[in-house]
Formats: sequence, C-alpha cells, structure tokens
Amino acid sequence: MTQNAPIIGPEALPALAELLRRPAISQVFVLTDANTSRLCYNQLLPYLPEGHQLLEIPAGEEYKTLASCETVWSALTEQRADRFAVLVNLGGGVITDLGGFCAAIYKRGILFVQVPTTLLAQVDASVGGKTGIDYLGYKNQLGVFQEPTGVFINPQFLTTLDPRQLKSGYAEMVKHWLIADAPAFDAYRREGIFVEDWTPLIQHSVAIKRQIVAQDPLETGLRKVLNFGHTVGHALESYLLTQPGREILHGEAIAAGMICESWLSVQKGLLSAEELDKIETFLFTVFEKIHFVTLETDAIADYARQDKKNAGSTINCTLLQGIGQALYNQPVTLLELADSLRYYHHL
Ligand code: NAD
Repeated sequence: MTQNAPIIGPEALPALAELLRRPAISQVFVLTDANTSRLCYNQLLPYLPEGHQLLEIPAGEEYKTLASCETVWSALTEQRADRFAVLVNLGGGVITDLGGFCAAIYKRGILFVQVPTTLLAQVDASVGGKTGIDYLGYKNQLGVFQEPTGVFINPQFLTTLDPRQLKSGYAEMVKHWLIADAPAFDAYRREGIFVEDWTPLIQHSVAIKRQIVAQDPLETGLRKVLNFGHTVGHALESYLLTQPGREILHGEAIAAGMICESWLSVQKGLLSAEELDKIETFLFTVFEKIHFVTLETDAIADYARQDKKNAGSTINCTLLQGIGQALYNQPVTLLELADSLRYYHHL
C-alpha cells in the first residue's frame, strides 16, 4: 500500500515521460474532462508518447458516475487495451478519483498515474490511494483503495484554475497545518492565498497527508484526523446541494466546518478561545461567510448523522487539541453540532 513519493514541481512531467517510455507499457490512455482537455492537455502533450489515446468525459462532480466509468471502460475495450496499458488521469479530484477507480477495475487492475490539475487534487485527492465514484446520490459510494504507479504534480497547471477553485483546495491545505503543523499555520497564513510559487506549500501539504496515510492506509484510526472540518463541512455541503442556487464548493464548506469544529474543540476544553479566534479570523480573510438561517441548523446537523464515517448514532468528529494536533473519534451530539452552526451563523 506504500506509494512512491509524488514528484512535485517542474521535474514532474519529464519524470512522467520517462515512466511512460518503459518497454513493459503496451498503450497509453489519457483521461481528461472537458476543461482539462482544453486547458491542460497541451501542456502535457510534449511528455506523452506518440500513439496515445485521449479519453474525455464532461466536467463536474455530477459526472463522477458509473455512466462515465462505462464510457471509459468501453473506450478501453474498443481500443483493445490489455493489462499492460496505463491510464494517465489528467484533471481535478473527479478525474483522479474516477480514473483511478476505472483503472483498478478494468481487467482486475491496470496501471494508472495521477496528474492532478487543481490545488485540491494536488494536495489531497491524488494522494493516499482512495479512488471512487458517486452512486445513487451518495458521494464516493463505490470505490477501492488503490495506489497509483506515480503522482506527478506540476503547479503550473494552476494558472488556468478559477480562483474560487484555488481557494477550495487551499482549505485542505489549511486543514493540514491545523491538524499537524502549528508553525506552518503561523508562517503560511501570513503569506495568504496570493502565492507566487506553490511548489513548497504543495510539498509540505503532501508530506503531511502521506505521513498520516502511511500509518493508517485503510482509515481504521489515525487517518480520520484528515476529516477535521469535514463532519460539519460535509453536512453543510450536502444540505446546500438540496437548495437550488445555494450550492457551495467542497473547500468552502470545509472552511466553515473547520470554524464550527474548532468551536466544538473549545467547548470540549481542547482548544483555547485565542486559538479559535486566530483560526476564524484567518479563515474569514480567505473565505466568504456561508449564509443560512438559524432555523436551518438542525436540518444541516441532521446530515451529519448520515455521514458514512459515523458508527451508529454517535457523531464521531475530529477535534483540535491545540493548533497543530488533532484527536479523532471525539463524540459530539447532534445538538452540539447544531450549536456550532449557530455560533458560526452569529459571527
Ligand atoms: P473537479 O475535478 O471537479 O475540478 C474542479 C473544476 O476545475 C472542474 O470543472 C474541472 O474541469 C476544472 N479544472 C481542473 N483542472 C483545471 C485547470 N488546471 N484549469 C482550469 N480548470 C480546471 O473537482 P476538485 O475540486 O479538483 O476535486 C473534487 C473531487 O475530489 C470530489 O469528487 C472529491 O470527492 C474528491 N476528493 C477525493 C479525495 C481522495 O482522497 N481521493 C480527497 C479529496 C477530494
């Protein structure tokens, strides 16, 4: 289950080119979505072997489906891809998750590599071996743990990314500092989001995630610390998805979730009020406040109950034990969760 370290920076694509030249590889397929085929494929082209095949699915979470997998599997079958074919997933988390899943299933598993093109995919989705798709309205309902042969991260891809999408990935980066590295939180938050060179920040975030995953690849314990901000965040994201015109991006929900769960950490005596203030002040400099009314807080909190990470009726949350350290499996009641949303609402 261990993975080669991702290659991050300008050397990433030349290293990918070298891997794709291995004689054992029979065919190269490149999976893109409609945006990455337009905006990223040309940057990758000089590093791809002649004769590779381009596969494309529409862009967006709503296409992280079995139907899109069938498009990929049919194309692979029609092109007679054998067990020595390799799938290069060029895109955000939707493409890296779906492409990884397609590769893991096709002929019981072919090689795949991740070339993440959003900040979220570069610091989170492409690292840690989780692949999958949404099913019957449930996120990541079908999936497998499968490590790619390599992860090749070129921050240059981020130049075409919508600033809102960039922020969404930044939230996961902030999460990594909060759960594992207090000095990084202090140093990096001063730089803010207008970063000239993302390479060192991505390297730092990827290292934190890999270090945690290495200790608990199948998420039986420690890996749950990576869910900080996600209990409330997912609930908020899922609830607003049911409200036409109020949908928010994943990272935006996580930023709000991190404020709520930091507040819960204070209530449990794990985090100081000063630390909470530092966290929320910083997050509000980057992320806009998410609006809901107090009447909605119970309905939002109720979504947390459906989160597949919970055992029975207990809501298990990851809380902060001071900035830079996290505790997983902290029981929180639905009422406390709704209170944290009310706290956020009144900020
Ligand atoms: P995404 O893949 O939908 O990408 C967001 C948008 O940006 C899309 O419209 C995409 O076409 C576009 N895009 C991608 N790269 C671009 C570029 N360089 N320039 C311009 N546009 C570009 O979404 P995402 O935020 O990258 O990832 C979200 C997905 O990741 C979710 O499905 C989530 O479940 C998954 N995820 C997985 C893990 C994991 O551990 N496997 C972790 C976190 C998130």
